[in-house]
Amino acid sequence: MNVKVNVKPAVRSSTTTVPVTVAYGDGIGPEIMTACLKILTAAGARIATEEIAIGETVYLKGNTAGIAPEAWDSLRRTKVFYKAPITTPQGGGFKSLNVTVRKTLGLFANVRPCVALDPFVKTKHPGMNVVIVRENEEDLYAGIEHRQTDEVYQCLKLITRPGCEKIVRYAFDYAKANRRKKVTCFTKDNIMKMTDGLFHKVFDEIGAEYPTIEKEHWIVDIGAAKLAANPTQFDVIVMPNLYGDILSDVAAEIAGSVGLAGSANIGEHVAMFEAIHGSAPRRAGQDLANPSGLLMGGVMMLVHIGQADVAEAVHNAWLKTIEDGIHTYDIFAEGVSTQKVGSQAFADAVIGRLGQKPAKLNPAVYDKSGKPLAVPGYTRRTPAQKDLVGVDVFVNFVGEADDLAPKLQAAQNGAFELAMITNRGVKVWPHGLPETFCTDHWRCRFLAKPGKQLNKAMIAGLLARLAADGVDFVKTEHLFTFDGEPGYSLGQGQ
Ligand code: NAD
Repeated sequence: MNVKVNVKPAVRSSTTTVPVTVAYGDGIGPEIMTACLKILTAAGARIATEEIAIGETVYLKGNTAGIAPEAWDSLRRTKVFYKAPITTPQGGGFKSLNVTVRKTLGLFANVRPCVALDPFVKTKHPGMNVVIVRENEEDLYAGIEHRQTDEVYQCLKLITRPGCEKIVRYAFDYAKANRRKKVTCFTKDNIMKMTDGLFHKVFDEIGAEYPTIEKEHWIVDIGAAKLAANPTQFDVIVMPNLYGDILSDVAAEIAGSVGLAGSANIGEHVAMFEAIHGSAPRRAGQDLANPSGLLMGGVMMLVHIGQADVAEAVHNAWLKTIEDGIHTYDIFAEGVSTQKVGSQAFADAVIGRLGQKPAKLNPAVYDKSGKPLAVPGYTRRTPAQKDLVGVDVFVNFVGEADDLAPKLQAAQNGAFELAMITNRGVKVWPHGLPETFCTDHWRCRFLAKPGKQLNKAMIAGLLARLAADGVDFVKTEHLFTFDGEPGYSLGQGQ
């Protein structure tokens, strides 16, 4: 296999002051960011912050992306973004700022450690210590959606080889660098054999390069059930975007609270650090919110910029604060907590414990050698031999498959043969069952007649004839083989 990895060091500096772009965000954002920066500064973080405005105020000025053009300049200059949560206004037209920033800056890896802090924070899963490594750019989050007929809407799920290789390699490198023993992969490749199948295949290919790390794969539904019931059996879990989005919130919540988990969004050029939770608008302006998630994001940022010494001091002071029972409302429990505090008093308590370590919880230990975790690049492999063998024509039609088929057959000429019709993926022609419910959206598969070499002009000719016959086609997908392997799924029941 001719895959090569380009290793580019992340932004790192152990002694110099590092510029960091900061956004205070919306809702509880400004309160928790103020608290976190106070702690980082008191701990001696060698950072110079520059502030940008993002989120609600920018959206409401009519900028549908929620980020002003000059903010990009700051991000591209500092390459490090410390971001408080923002509020995405309800209603159409507003694009998710988080998705825009992650994708525009190529932040392909989302790393979310979910660690139980028992017995100091209530959890059903003492000892849980799971890191979710979520692919951050692809999958259904490509945001390519269409309404194709009166009844049918679609969202395109895009999974790419570069995307899979980068995230899977990052997960294994992360495991190795952090002395983790096992990497588990979750996919749904029993159903999505091509897209999730690629993710699983790449996991097996790249996993083979890490013989000292244990590897396993679970179908995401049973994997999620096992994660919820027995999270201590997992270590690092790598998964495509949507599953990772959902399951990292579940994992954080069952570890203790979504308010405790931080997240790193890593790219080749830029990295962003945040809490995993949102802007909790109902708690805003009351000095109530827990700054811990954003603080843990800040700790990951310090490690990323080569200030593991400061990261370790902050992390340990925070653990000691939790251990001493000084808790915000969300984790406060009678009999366990000793003092209920607000966001700023919590920050002061952490600052007061800088230099201390927890007595019962495992102290944080970071590698202070300053060796950067490699950010995998991608080298394109030799393309496979690609041959055009047919076309799926999607048709808007109200009626029965047996009435549609003759209209389609009338348009096929010497090159094509109508092979099947499916509705919502299920084969309904030939030999469909009357019990199958059909919508107004039909996938009509034309394959090349035996011995016929197809070209795109022939597909254009087929479409021209269908149009002339009044067939309302709404989209086409060309069918290829790659080195002789079909690059398309069969119909269900075919
Ligand atoms: P949320 O995470 O903001 O809040 C859910 C609930 O969790 C809150 O009501 C609160 O009870 C609790 N909570 C969350 N963070 C807490 C903290 N630090 N301390 C104490 N309690 C905390 O989720 P939501 O209500 O679904 O979303 C609110 C807004 O946040 C939406 O506009 C959403 O789009 C946005 N959001 C932003 C981000 C981000 O910026 N990264 C992520 C998720 C959601």
